[in-house]
Amino acid sequence: MPHDPCIDLLQRLVRSPSISGNEAEAVQIYADFAQHHGFTPHIDGRNVYFLWHQTEGPTLLLNSHLDTVRASTTWTRDPWDGAIEEDRLHGLGANDAKGSVAAQFGAALTLRDQGFPGNLLVCASCDEETGGEGMERIAHTLPTYHAALIGEPNNFAIAAGQRGLVKTRIHLSGQRAHASRPWQGRNAIHQSTQLIENLLTPDLNIPGDLTKATLQVTLIEGGTQSNVVPDHCTITLDCRTTPEFNNERMLEHIHNTATALNARVEVISQRFKPCQTPPTSALVQAAQAATMSQSVTVFPSVCDLFWVAHVPSLVMGPGQPERSHQADEFILIPEVLRGAQTYAAIAQAWWERVQPTP
Ligand SMILES: [Zn+2]
Repeated sequence: MPHDPCIDLLQRLVRSPSISGNEAEAVQIYADFAQHHGFTPHIDGRNVYFLWHQTEGPTLLLNSHLDTVRASTTWTRDPWDGAIEEDRLHGLGANDAKGSVAAQFGAALTLRDQGFPGNLLVCASCDEETGGEGMERIAHTLPTYHAALIGEPNNFAIAAGQRGLVKTRIHLSGQRAHASRPWQGRNAIHQSTQLIENLLTPDLNIPGDLTKATLQVTLIEGGTQSNVVPDHCTITLDCRTTPEFNNERMLEHIHNTATALNARVEVISQRFKPCQTPPTSALVQAAQAATMSQSVTVFPSVCDLFWVAHVPSLVMGPGQPERSHQADEFILIPEVLRGAQTYAAIAQAWWERVQPTP
């Protein structure tokens, strides 16, 4: 079956197992492929990139990730067979996010063949699923770019921002006693219910709204024995933040609420800040023009957008989020081809808006 080059690349990449930390082979496959198609790839650790630099003026970064999570035990086929059956390409990472990597490569080929007059930087990176040596490390050492399009399977939604992430653990202390004489102690688990109620203010957790902050208690530990009033209870919180209700405000809310009940707060992570590209930016407008869609959303979880948020940036890619990290992952070939066209159209529309005036 004759393949479009980007489908050929996708199949080669899917056939290379690249669980985070093991992307070196996929990087080499990508570099060889890029070289074969006339680009000059550079390998930096487990990342690879090439430039299409035509002129003075800004550069658009197209980036997505080569790494995958581990295969779940419920796969019914070889996760790395890369088989094409009808219009599906099967395999771990086909959807998240090698489909985006391949589509971005396809866009670069299309743009070059069309004589694209602007500047592109195309990068396939590692460690997106875990953080580490990928965009987290190279976002500020890559050749200069002025806007960034991150590929993740969100069915071409224009996600012009991402919520931040605050993880904390709260320790409640009580007083141990025999459960038959609870008045002699102070039950730390019972106190935690009051704490949780106070944490869940009406401002948070508006269902079905990705633009609002959320706070969820995701782990609870406490007690030692069925007949002992527990003197300790720990709850773990996963909080997603927004520019309006940012990490600092979330931490203040947690600290104030916990302190009122004499509980101690341990901050596990707060480095992912919320980010947002304004709707007036050339990149968002280019994406709207290229997709003929006005609707702009945010990316629901944490991805590499965070590392490039110092420039106008958004997340968009072929594939469906529900297929990611699932057994029997696949992507539809028409989705990838549409991805290549869409990325190319966005680059064109972006360049029309930002090119230097002569
Ligand atoms: Zn991903």
